Amino acid sequence: MKITAVETLVCHARMRNWIFVKVRTDQDGLWGWGEATLEWHTRAVVGAIEDLAELVVGEDPTRIEHLWQMMFRQHFWHSSGVVRATALSGIDIALWDILGKIHGVPCHKLWGGPVRDYVRLYGHLGGGKMEDIYDTDPADAKRFADLACDMAAQGFTAMKCMAVPETMPVEGLRPIKYAERCMRAMRDAVGDEIDLIVDCHARPSPRMGLRFAKALEPYGLYWFEEPCWPESVAGLAEIQRAVTTPIATGERLVTQHAFRPLLEQNAVSILQPDITHTGGLSEARRIAAMAEAYRVALAPHNPQGPLSTAASLELGFATPSYLICESVHLDVPWRQDVVREGFVVEEKGRIVRPGNRPGLGIEINEDEVRKHPFQKEILQRTFYADGGVGDW
Ligand SMILES: [Mg+2]
Repeated sequence: MKITAVETLVCHARMRNWIFVKVRTDQDGLWGWGEATLEWHTRAVVGAIEDLAELVVGEDPTRIEHLWQMMFRQHFWHSSGVVRATALSGIDIALWDILGKIHGVPCHKLWGGPVRDYVRLYGHLGGGKMEDIYDTDPADAKRFADLACDMAAQGFTAMKCMAVPETMPVEGLRPIKYAERCMRAMRDAVGDEIDLIVDCHARPSPRMGLRFAKALEPYGLYWFEEPCWPESVAGLAEIQRAVTTPIATGERLVTQHAFRPLLEQNAVSILQPDITHTGGLSEARRIAAMAEAYRVALAPHNPQGPLSTAASLELGFATPSYLICESVHLDVPWRQDVVREGFVVEEKGRIVRPGNRPGLGIEINEDEVRKHPFQKEILQRTFYADGGVGDW
């Protein structure tokens, strides 16, 4: 059996262009689907996939690890930059889909079978509607509480918000008080049963991140995400030691090599590799194994398309340290139209049970995708009050 082509299919979904990767084989009706979505880098990733294709076309698609090594090492430049790693990831995910289809089993059975009865999903405030999660004013605590109640009413038992505003490297009390008021309002609104997550988008400096973490500690967060740049491993470690709140990071890190120092320096409680960026399911499984040795949990980053979610769920069914699956369901109203078969989300508790569909269990409706051709992503930028550049 041979790979005959690697194709990309771009689907514009408002905030991001989903990049679906189709790996074709010489066997009739056998292909695999992957996802390589990388906001604001769509054309670069599509080009990188075209470049990588020459290494795998003509090769046996079942030799996944061998092909992964070729894609990582054989163009001289290692695939440790995010564009090339994302391209590699999309192809790797599609290869696992093919292997599952060949054996007639879901991917999680290829990795030893289910280790749990279901995976729980968490959502963003607004369910993925970008205005709700990104544009709700941190001064408007009541809006945070109302959106949290909406999500709980939709069955979610865990949800993420962005209650920490953009701040310069050092600021006074005002942003701290904003964040605190938002969390108090949300906790009062939904009670203690709901798990609340705060994502800082790596906006704060290590010192501001520490101050936010201390201020929000009394609200019993499920985790505190990217409290400073992931490059500041020492800063993360300091925050992790200063509070009992679990610290999480990893969505911008690619390959096991970027995750190693976080574990060695006890800088986080939760790793958040993005399967579509970090090196695919092959590398995510290696990162999970490394995390296991440190008893650190895994909660993959996944605000992308339905294929990325299917990949995250399959990994979750088979990975003991996997905690919860990120999900968006209201980013575009036609999300379900581009998917022909998929996982089933039970509304009560927003859980997904392992299925029996082969591979990733998902098929893309290519005609529907073609209704949403590439458009440039909506620009999202941050400038401080004085005009200096900040992190969005
Ligand atoms: Mg995040």
